[in-house]
Amino acid sequence: MRIDLSNVITCENKVVTENVPIELESFKSRLGDFPIIEKAPVELRIANQENKQLLIHGVVDFTALIPCGRCLEEVPTNIHFEIEKEMKLENSAVNDEEMDDTDYLIGFDLDVDRLIYEEILVNWPMKVLCSEDCKGICKVCGINLNKGDCNCQRTELDPRMAAFQDVFNKFKEV
Ligand SMILES: [Zn+2]
Ligand SMILES: [Zn+2]
Repeated sequence: MRIDLSNVITCENKVVTENVPIELESFKSRLGDFPIIEKAPVELRIANQENKQLLIHGVVDFTALIPCGRCLEEVPTNIHFEIEKEMKLENSAVNDEEMDDTDYLIGFDLDVDRLIYEEILVNWPMKVLCSEDCKGICKVCGINLNKGDCNCQRTELDPRMAAFQDVFNKFKEV
């Protein structure tokens, strides 16, 4: 969705509000493709402040399925944050320098989907766990250890013990 901002940018102290639905069915990034299972429209408020600044404010709220960092089980994760952008206005236009590093605003045209996508990327959770004490998966057989146990030897060897075992193995070869 695009919003034409010409009447905000050129009109001192003008404010527009717009309810923008999140059009994404899933969020795709380099990290993967995460289904969005619940979403609320983003309430955008765009304001011209004394012909000096353009302010963009919005609240983003949705729930995505993100795999647990330990067991890979999908966890419904609520993502909630606010968008706050400030751009300098000069002669009824957004300052050229700021235009260079924003690709969601081209001339008077605000590309809302692009703005929201970029903001989600910045606010994406670093680490998601199904629970604080998730036991993860067995590195040997791949079983989800929250759901059952296995008989694999998973104890990682102490490096000193590993050295001892090397010696022991050599001894056996003789
Ligand atoms: Zn987990
Ligand atoms: Zn196992």
